[in-house]
Parts: sequence; C-alpha cells; structure tokens
Amino acid sequence: MVRLIFLGPPGAGKGTQAYSLAGNCGIPHISTGDILRSAVTQQTELGQKAQAYMDQGELVPDQLILDLVRDRLGQPDAVPGWILDGFPRNVSQADFLDRVLQEMSQTCDCVVNLDVPDEVIVGRLLNRGRKDDQEDVIRNRLEVYRKQTAPLIDFYEKREQLETIDGNQALEIVTAELHKLVDRKKQR
Ligand code: AMP
Repeated sequence: MVRLIFLGPPGAGKGTQAYSLAGNCGIPHISTGDILRSAVTQQTELGQKAQAYMDQGELVPDQLILDLVRDRLGQPDAVPGWILDGFPRNVSQADFLDRVLQEMSQTCDCVVNLDVPDEVIVGRLLNRGRKDDQEDVIRNRLEVYRKQTAPLIDFYEKREQLETIDGNQALEIVTAELHKLVDRKKQR
C-alpha cells in the first residue's frame, strides 16, 4: 500500500517522478493540474471556470477542486494506493484532505518534498514550453507557491510526515531515492 503526496515548486520534476513511481507501484497518479488541463481542452464547465486562473499562474478556487479530489480518491483504482501530485496546494486543501482521508479510514504514508532552487526552476520551466510557462507566469506561479503552498512544508514537518529529496540531481538519482523511500515506508 503506497499513499504519497508530492510537494514542491513548479518544475521540480513532481509530475515526471510521480507518474513513473505510480506506474511502478500499479497505483493511480492523481495530478490536479492534469485533470484541470484536460477539462480546459475539453472546454467542460470546470475547464471554462479554471482557465483564466491557470493562464495567470494563480490557484483555481478551492471550491472547483475539492469535490473533484474526493471523488477521484474514492474511485476503485485508488483502493490499493495513490500518489497525489499538485494537491494539496494550500492549508485549507490540506485540512480538507485530512477530513477526506479520515472519512475513508486512510492515512498518507508520507509527503515527499522535492526541493529545487528557484534559479534552476525558472530555467527548467522556460525549456518545457507549456502554455503557462512564459516567464511572467512562471514568476507568478513561484510567488503563489511560496505564499500559499510552501507553508505546507512546515505543516507536514510538524506532523513528522515530511521527507525531503534533493530534486536538483539527475532524474535517475531522484527516481532511485524515491524508490528507496517507498521501500522503507512499505517495511514499516
Ligand atoms: P500543475 O500542473 O500542478 O503545475 O498545475 C497547473 C495549474 O493548475 C496551477 O498553476 C493552478 O492554476 C492549477 N492547479 C493545479 N492544482 C491545483 C490545486 N490543487 N489547487 C488550485 N489550483 C490548482
């Protein structure tokens, strides 16, 4: 059973690492960013409401995302475990997640904090070329991360759930460290 939350600034490599680790563990990779991008592409009601926030690098309002995450965690494929990538993004989302997990009698094994310095991030994101990867939007996403999401590092650290991994290393080394971490958690 593996239940992990991936935390870290945009461009830390969360998506890539979470996707491959989830594949290895045979559990879903639940990325709220991917869910929102696909809603935007399909121009669903959610997508139409979320688009302007995403284009500016702001968080979409909690009310658009909370029920969606609860429903996703309740799907049958998430019974054996899950990796959450991009959620929670602020303290109220983290409180909500606590309540949902309690309702489902689940606990999260740990919160992986992928740590990467700002200078490295901006360079990486400029190379990625996603729609919200223009320099002004990147800077705003970093600002939003610092103000709203980074406080979660302390939040989970205090609960002794935080595991920090240096994300500024070769991709394979980060992957190997994550595998070691998961093995350690499984043995407990
Ligand atoms: P990401 O792919 O995780 O970098 O997310 C891309 C964009 O989707 C973010 O800049 C936000 O606008 C939005 N987003 C993703 N996850 C969340 C979330 N948990 N809460 C609010 N907005 C989110």
